[in-house]
Amino acid sequence: MAVSDQSRAVVIGSGPNGLAAAILLARAGVVVTVHEAAAEIGGGTRTEELTLPGYRHDVCSAIHPMAASSPCFERFPLAQFGLEWIHSDAPLAHPLDDGSAVMLERSIDATAAGLGSDGAAWRALIGPLAEHWSELRQDVLAPLGVPRHPLRMANFGLHALRSARGLAESQFRGERARALFAGIGAHSVLPLEAMPSAAIALVLGAAGHAVGWPVPRGGSQSIAGALAGYLRSLGGEIRTNSRMDSLPGVPIVMCDVGPRQFLKLAGHRLPAAYRESLARYRYGPGVFKLDLALDGPIPWRAAECARAATVHLGGTLAEIAQWESTHTGRPFVLLAQQSLFDPTRAPAGKHTAWAYCHVPNGSTEDFADAIEQQIERFAPGFRARILARHVLTPAKLEARNANLVGGDIGGGSMELGQTFLRPNWHRYRTPLPGVYFCSSSTPPGGGVHGMCGYHAVKRAGFLIN
Ligand SMILES: Cc1cc2nc3c(=O)[nH]c(=O)nc-3n(C[C@H](O)[C@H](O)[C@H](O)COP(=O)(O)OP(=O)(O)OC[C@H]3O[C@@H](n4cnc5c(N)ncnc54)[C@H](O)[C@@H]3O)c2cc1C
Repeated sequence: MAVSDQSRAVVIGSGPNGLAAAILLARAGVVVTVHEAAAEIGGGTRTEELTLPGYRHDVCSAIHPMAASSPCFERFPLAQFGLEWIHSDAPLAHPLDDGSAVMLERSIDATAAGLGSDGAAWRALIGPLAEHWSELRQDVLAPLGVPRHPLRMANFGLHALRSARGLAESQFRGERARALFAGIGAHSVLPLEAMPSAAIALVLGAAGHAVGWPVPRGGSQSIAGALAGYLRSLGGEIRTNSRMDSLPGVPIVMCDVGPRQFLKLAGHRLPAAYRESLARYRYGPGVFKLDLALDGPIPWRAAECARAATVHLGGTLAEIAQWESTHTGRPFVLLAQQSLFDPTRAPAGKHTAWAYCHVPNGSTEDFADAIEQQIERFAPGFRARILARHVLTPAKLEARNANLVGGDIGGGSMELGQTFLRPNWHRYRTPLPGVYFCSSSTPPGGGVHGMCGYHAVKRAGFLIN
């Protein structure tokens, strides 16, 4: 029997949101084709031998508290399609110049114990969020609306709408807790004085206790591989090297692209007011990324750093805040050392390091040396272990994936207005019948969670089963 036209869909882009949308449509009985511009599927979930043979580097995302928290991904049998999470002993280490490290442990009590007199404040601030994370994540990873758990959301919102710096300085007295909170808040890619940078610190801090900050065995490509495997098992098709330059004529089109790409795809068909609002969409800072092949593990001065897959290198809150708001001083470096916990990433005895810092959008400056110096500061002798380097500037990131405008990895700035209303107040829906946005330029924004795809499919009127 011929498939009715009404049950056809095209998804443009195979990032985690595009693949999630494709799966949910396929589960609803729709015949789905995904078109991916790049030679490999996955968007921000790709792993490649960027430096030397046998060294497998995550090109974009590496650490996955959001994937592990996702109400979308948990509906999918991704383990059957090869996805296996690996947890480091502690989610996060934050070394300081005195040779110690502040640790975000899975346990609240163990984390509090490392924070001295601020332990009780950490427990009071993050504890309730972590304890009720399974409820809270439903609302945090959803567009603004009537919350499913209003009381929990109200408690969260009270602190979340603040700046990370304001909240840290009001809650904690010591440098250790302030530094830990600031480093996590910097994932907002906002100045730490800006609202709602505290939200990201609270979300990622709570998720660290509740579900951990895991890495996928084999690299982030395993997430895309599992999503794609499941999609194909449902009858979905994926075409790579298939860049779309215009919208296809099918009843449902899900666009895993940002507003700039959408204007290229369909600008001439859009009402002027809508078109102009997309053109006004704001992008945040870019990212300068460095991948390294190493002769051995990073020789941390604080030995505890080797217990965590993620290490934040920025010292004190004041230092991190300076970098994030002005990009002057020493860069705040987000580092992952996946090969310590996943032997598939490097040849026996060798290691990989994944590191980046936020830089002005579109910056052409070379930050490789500054990043290496920052690692060396907390791990003397580290540079001597470098076998090979690979640099991704903002421009190179954008060349690999058009969604990364000027190197912005979050699909647009997460400043207050755009946190809730992205890419504009219509969010997933566009003025074109059957055409929807499903990328991280819609709520809940950046990160590997598939929830933008989930909510776009819901908005298109499909029952999520
Ligand atoms: C360096 C870096 C580090 C990151 N670290 C983390 C992390 O540790 N944890 C985390 O959760 N998140 C992280 N992220 C963010 C995360 O990768 C993204 O938020 C996420 O991938 C967004 O998913 P998406 O599906 O919206 O879009 P993307 O993953 O960007 O996928 C979009 C896809 O659409 C394709 N495309 C674009 N235009 C077209 C077109 N016209 N035709 C066909 N295909 C098209 C692109 O090639 C791309 O494959 C990181 C990102 C980067 C770049």
